[in-house]
Amino acid sequence: MTGTIFDIKKFAVHDGPGIRTTVFFKGCPLRCSWCHNPESINPAIVDVPKAQKVGNSSFVQMETVGKEMTADELMHEILSDRVFMEESGGGVTFSGGEPFLQYGFLLEMVNRCRSEGVHTVVDTSAFTETENLMKIAVLTDLLLVDLKVMDDVLHKKYTGVSNERILYNIQVISENKIPFRIRIPVIPGVSFTDSNIMAAIDFLATLPEKPVGIDLLPFHNTGNHKYERFGLKNVFRDVPSLQSTDLEELKNPFNEAGFDVHVGG
Ligand code: SF4
Repeated sequence: MTGTIFDIKKFAVHDGPGIRTTVFFKGCPLRCSWCHNPESINPAIVDVPKAQKVGNSSFVQMETVGKEMTADELMHEILSDRVFMEESGGGVTFSGGEPFLQYGFLLEMVNRCRSEGVHTVVDTSAFTETENLMKIAVLTDLLLVDLKVMDDVLHKKYTGVSNERILYNIQVISENKIPFRIRIPVIPGVSFTDSNIMAAIDFLATLPEKPVGIDLLPFHNTGNHKYERFGLKNVFRDVPSLQSTDLEELKNPFNEAGFDVHVGG
Protein backbone atom coordinates (compact mmCIF):
# COMPACT_ATOMS: atom_id res chain seq x y z
CA MET A 1 0.00 0.00 0.00
CA THR A 2 1.18 3.56 -0.67
CA GLY A 3 0.36 6.96 0.78
CA THR A 4 0.92 10.54 -0.34
CA ILE A 5 3.18 12.41 2.04
CA PHE A 6 4.12 16.06 1.73
CA ASP A 7 6.77 16.28 4.44
CA ILE A 8 8.54 14.38 7.20
CA LYS A 9 9.85 16.44 10.09
CA LYS A 10 12.53 14.89 12.26
CA PHE A 11 13.22 15.79 15.90
CA ALA A 12 9.83 17.46 16.38
CA VAL A 13 9.12 18.45 19.99
CA HIS A 14 5.65 20.05 19.70
CA ASP A 15 3.61 17.19 18.26
CA GLY A 16 3.29 14.94 21.30
CA PRO A 17 5.61 13.68 24.05
CA GLY A 18 9.39 13.39 23.64
CA ILE A 19 11.32 13.66 20.39
CA ARG A 20 9.14 12.69 17.46
CA THR A 21 9.16 12.11 13.75
CA THR A 22 6.13 13.90 12.32
CA VAL A 23 4.74 12.57 9.05
CA PHE A 24 2.53 15.03 7.17
CA PHE A 25 -0.11 13.35 5.01
CA LYS A 26 -1.21 15.23 1.92
CA GLY A 27 -4.86 16.19 1.45
CA CYS A 28 -7.41 17.85 3.72
CA PRO A 29 -11.22 18.20 3.44
CA LEU A 30 -11.14 21.51 5.34
CA ARG A 31 -10.12 24.93 4.03
CA CYS A 32 -9.12 26.80 7.17
CA SER A 33 -8.50 30.42 6.27
CA TRP A 34 -5.50 30.53 8.64
CA CYS A 35 -3.92 27.23 7.51
CA HIS A 36 -0.15 27.60 7.64
CA ASN A 37 0.39 24.46 5.55
CA PRO A 38 -1.80 25.31 2.55
CA GLU A 39 0.39 23.07 0.38
CA SER A 40 -1.03 20.14 2.36
CA ILE A 41 -4.65 20.72 1.30
CA ASN A 42 -4.59 19.39 -2.25
CA PRO A 43 -4.36 15.56 -2.09
CA ALA A 44 -2.56 15.42 -5.44
CA ILE A 45 1.18 15.60 -6.04
CA VAL A 46 1.72 18.90 -7.86
CA ASP A 47 4.53 20.87 -9.48
CA VAL A 48 4.61 24.49 -8.36
CA PRO A 49 6.94 27.33 -9.27
CA LYS A 50 9.57 28.30 -6.71
CA ALA A 51 11.51 31.56 -7.00
CA GLN A 52 15.27 31.16 -6.55
CA LYS A 53 17.86 33.90 -6.15
CA VAL A 54 21.52 33.48 -6.98
CA GLY A 55 23.55 36.69 -6.53
CA ASN A 56 21.65 39.40 -8.41
CA SER A 57 19.81 36.98 -10.64
CA SER A 58 16.48 35.44 -9.85
CA PHE A 59 14.83 32.62 -11.69
CA VAL A 60 11.89 30.31 -11.25
CA GLN A 61 12.27 26.58 -10.82
CA MET A 62 9.50 24.00 -10.62
CA GLU A 63 9.28 22.04 -7.39
CA THR A 64 7.27 18.87 -6.80
CA VAL A 65 5.14 19.02 -3.64
CA GLY A 66 4.24 15.63 -2.23
CA LYS A 67 5.55 12.17 -2.85
CA GLU A 68 4.17 8.67 -2.97
CA MET A 69 5.67 6.37 -0.34
CA THR A 70 5.11 2.70 0.35
CA ALA A 71 4.39 1.60 3.91
CA ASP A 72 7.80 -0.14 3.90
CA GLU A 73 9.61 3.05 2.87
CA LEU A 74 7.85 5.14 5.48
CA MET A 75 8.41 2.54 8.19
CA HIS A 76 12.12 2.45 7.32
CA GLU A 77 12.25 6.26 7.68
CA ILE A 78 10.44 6.14 11.03
CA LEU A 79 12.59 3.37 12.48
CA SER A 80 15.79 5.21 11.53
CA ASP A 81 14.97 7.61 14.42
CA ARG A 82 14.15 4.91 16.90
CA VAL A 83 17.06 5.58 19.24
CA PHE A 84 15.97 9.23 19.76
CA MET A 85 12.37 8.16 20.29
CA GLU A 86 13.29 5.57 22.89
CA GLU A 87 15.71 7.84 24.77
CA SER A 88 13.17 10.69 24.96
CA GLY A 89 9.86 8.85 25.37
CA GLY A 90 8.90 10.04 21.89
CA GLY A 91 7.58 8.31 18.80
CA VAL A 92 5.85 9.14 15.56
CA THR A 93 3.07 11.64 14.91
CA PHE A 94 0.82 11.31 11.87
CA SER A 95 -0.37 14.77 10.90
CA GLY A 96 -1.36 16.63 7.76
CA GLY A 97 -3.34 17.79 6.00
CA GLU A 98 -5.84 15.40 7.46
CA PRO A 99 -4.36 11.91 7.93
CA PHE A 100 -7.83 10.29 7.97
CA LEU A 101 -8.26 11.27 4.33
CA GLN A 102 -5.87 8.36 3.64
CA TYR A 103 -7.52 6.09 6.16
CA GLY A 104 -6.26 2.74 4.78
CA PHE A 105 -2.65 3.89 4.74
CA LEU A 106 -2.97 5.48 8.18
CA LEU A 107 -4.39 2.26 9.59
CA GLU A 108 -1.54 0.26 8.13
CA MET A 109 1.09 2.65 9.51
CA VAL A 110 -0.45 2.75 12.99
CA ASN A 111 -0.64 -1.04 13.06
CA ARG A 112 2.96 -1.43 11.94
CA CYS A 113 4.22 1.10 14.50
CA ARG A 114 2.26 -0.67 17.19
CA SER A 115 3.81 -4.04 16.34
CA GLU A 116 7.27 -2.39 16.43
CA GLY A 117 6.53 -0.84 19.82
CA VAL A 118 6.69 2.74 18.45
CA HIS A 119 4.54 5.27 20.33
CA THR A 120 1.98 6.83 17.97
CA VAL A 121 0.08 10.11 17.98
CA VAL A 122 -2.52 11.06 15.37
CA ASP A 123 -3.17 14.77 14.86
CA THR A 124 -6.63 15.25 13.34
CA SER A 125 -9.38 17.76 12.64
CA ALA A 126 -11.84 14.96 13.63
CA PHE A 127 -13.75 15.70 10.44
CA THR A 128 -13.99 12.05 9.45
CA GLU A 129 -16.27 9.04 9.76
CA THR A 130 -16.73 8.12 13.41
CA GLU A 131 -16.18 4.43 12.67
CA ASN A 132 -12.77 5.10 11.08
CA LEU A 133 -11.81 7.48 13.85
CA MET A 134 -12.56 4.90 16.51
CA LYS A 135 -10.73 2.10 14.70
CA ILE A 136 -7.56 4.20 14.73
CA ALA A 137 -8.20 5.68 18.17
CA VAL A 138 -8.09 2.30 19.91
CA LEU A 139 -4.76 1.46 18.24
CA THR A 140 -2.95 4.74 18.85
CA ASP A 141 -1.46 6.11 22.08
CA LEU A 142 -2.79 9.65 21.86
CA LEU A 143 -5.04 11.76 19.64
CA LEU A 144 -4.47 15.48 19.09
CA VAL A 145 -7.86 16.89 18.13
CA ASP A 146 -8.53 20.40 16.84
CA LEU A 147 -11.38 22.42 18.27
CA LYS A 148 -11.53 25.40 15.97
CA VAL A 149 -14.71 27.46 16.23
CA MET A 150 -17.83 26.66 18.26
CA ASP A 151 -20.35 28.70 16.26
CA ASP A 152 -21.30 26.55 13.27
CA VAL A 153 -21.97 29.48 10.93
CA LEU A 154 -18.49 30.86 11.63
CA HIS A 155 -17.00 27.37 11.43
CA LYS A 156 -18.43 26.93 7.93
CA LYS A 157 -17.33 30.39 6.93
CA TYR A 158 -13.71 29.94 8.01
CA THR A 159 -13.11 26.21 7.45
CA GLY A 160 -15.58 25.36 4.68
CA VAL A 161 -17.34 22.63 6.72
CA SER A 162 -19.80 22.30 9.59
CA ASN A 163 -18.44 21.49 13.06
CA GLU A 164 -21.33 19.11 13.81
CA ARG A 165 -19.43 15.92 13.00
CA ILE A 166 -16.30 17.19 14.77
CA LEU A 167 -18.15 17.91 18.04
CA TYR A 168 -19.92 14.56 17.83
CA ASN A 169 -16.61 12.74 17.28
CA ILE A 170 -15.00 14.48 20.25
CA GLN A 171 -17.96 13.38 22.35
CA VAL A 172 -17.52 9.75 21.17
CA ILE A 173 -13.75 9.81 21.82
CA SER A 174 -14.42 11.05 25.32
CA GLU A 175 -17.19 8.53 26.04
CA ASN A 176 -14.82 5.74 24.99
CA LYS A 177 -12.05 7.00 27.29
CA ILE A 178 -9.58 7.51 24.44
CA PRO A 179 -6.63 9.67 25.61
CA PHE A 180 -6.80 12.97 23.70
CA ARG A 181 -5.50 16.51 23.80
CA ILE A 182 -7.52 19.40 22.42
CA ARG A 183 -5.76 21.96 20.23
CA ILE A 184 -7.39 25.35 19.79
CA PRO A 185 -6.00 27.57 17.04
CA VAL A 186 -6.27 31.06 18.52
CA ILE A 187 -7.29 33.25 15.59
CA PRO A 188 -7.91 36.99 16.17
CA GLY A 189 -11.57 37.89 15.68
CA VAL A 190 -12.60 34.28 14.96
CA SER A 191 -11.75 31.85 17.77
CA PHE A 192 -10.02 34.47 19.96
CA THR A 193 -13.26 36.00 21.24
CA ASP A 194 -14.83 35.79 24.70
CA SER A 195 -17.92 34.05 23.32
CA ASN A 196 -15.95 31.37 21.48
CA ILE A 197 -13.63 30.67 24.40
CA MET A 198 -16.52 30.38 26.85
CA ALA A 199 -18.46 28.12 24.43
CA ALA A 200 -15.37 25.90 24.03
CA ILE A 201 -14.91 25.62 27.80
CA ASP A 202 -18.63 24.85 28.29
CA PHE A 203 -18.46 22.11 25.66
CA LEU A 204 -15.28 20.55 27.06
CA ALA A 205 -16.55 20.75 30.64
CA THR A 206 -19.60 18.62 29.79
CA LEU A 207 -17.55 15.76 28.29
CA PRO A 208 -17.64 12.58 30.37
CA GLU A 209 -13.83 12.18 30.17
CA LYS A 210 -11.74 15.34 30.01
CA PRO A 211 -8.89 15.84 27.55
CA VAL A 212 -5.47 15.15 29.08
CA GLY A 213 -4.57 18.71 28.16
CA ILE A 214 -5.45 21.72 26.05
CA ASP A 215 -2.99 23.46 23.73
CA LEU A 216 -3.67 27.05 22.70
CA LEU A 217 -1.97 27.57 19.35
CA PRO A 218 -1.20 31.23 18.62
CA PHE A 219 -2.05 32.46 15.11
CA HIS A 220 0.96 33.22 13.00
CA ASN A 221 1.25 34.49 9.47
CA THR A 222 4.58 32.86 8.64
CA GLY A 223 2.85 30.95 5.85
CA ASN A 224 1.99 34.14 3.89
CA HIS A 225 4.54 33.39 1.17
CA LYS A 226 2.98 29.96 0.63
CA TYR A 227 -0.42 31.49 -0.18
CA GLU A 228 1.22 33.58 -2.91
CA ARG A 229 3.11 30.61 -4.22
CA PHE A 230 0.09 28.33 -4.38
CA GLY A 231 -2.21 31.09 -5.69
CA LEU A 232 -4.57 30.85 -2.71
CA LYS A 233 -6.73 33.58 -1.20
CA ASN A 234 -5.10 34.78 2.03
CA VAL A 235 -7.77 36.22 4.33
CA PHE A 236 -5.35 36.80 7.23
CA ARG A 237 -2.44 38.22 5.23
CA ASP A 238 -2.34 41.54 7.12
CA VAL A 239 -3.19 40.18 10.57
CA PRO A 240 -0.10 40.28 12.80
CA SER A 241 1.12 37.06 14.36
CA LEU A 242 0.31 36.47 18.03
CA GLN A 243 3.10 35.80 20.49
CA SER A 244 2.88 33.15 23.19
CA THR A 245 2.84 35.95 25.78
CA ASP A 246 -0.38 37.31 24.19
CA LEU A 247 -2.15 34.14 25.30
CA GLU A 248 -1.03 34.01 28.94
CA GLU A 249 -4.28 35.55 30.20
CA LEU A 250 -6.33 33.25 28.01
CA LYS A 251 -5.10 30.34 30.08
CA ASN A 252 -6.99 31.61 33.14
CA PRO A 253 -10.57 30.57 32.24
CA PHE A 254 -9.32 27.10 31.22
CA ASN A 255 -7.39 26.74 34.45
CA GLU A 256 -10.40 27.91 36.46
CA ALA A 257 -12.50 25.23 34.73
CA GLY A 258 -9.95 22.62 35.87
CA PHE A 259 -8.11 22.01 32.60
CA ASP A 260 -4.39 21.57 32.15
CA VAL A 261 -3.71 24.26 29.55
CA HIS A 262 -0.57 25.07 27.66
CA VAL A 263 0.35 27.71 25.12
CA GLY A 264 1.92 26.35 21.94
CA GLY A 265 1.89 22.90 20.38
S1 SF4 B 1 -7.50 21.16 9.12
FE1 SF4 B 1 -5.33 21.74 9.31
S2 SF4 B 1 -4.38 21.18 7.35
FE2 SF4 B 1 -6.60 21.20 7.03
S3 SF4 B 1 -7.01 23.25 6.22
FE3 SF4 B 1 -7.32 23.28 8.46
S4 SF4 B 1 -5.38 23.98 9.32
FE4 SF4 B 1 -4.98 23.31 7.17
